[in-house]
Amino acid sequence: MTIDHRLIGMLVCPLCKGPLLVLRDDNARPTELLCPADRLAFPIRDGIPVMLESEARACEGADPAPAPVFPGPT
Ligand SMILES: [Zn+2]
Repeated sequence: MTIDHRLIGMLVCPLCKGPLLVLRDDNARPTELLCPADRLAFPIRDGIPVMLESEARACEGADPAPAPVFPGPT
């Protein structure tokens, strides 16, 4: 299943209704949706964003306005 990138772009944080950042893996596949304000990362499972606070991963120490940084292909 491939994820609908337009759908991701429409998603907002279920807590603060703020915009979400798409975190990607080495293959540029979306893996999580990060809310910088709440420092929560919502998982994407089988291409389906799981927008549940109970499922979100806390990102302690995350930059309040982060640029998602993942290891490059080098
Ligand atoms: Zn939020």
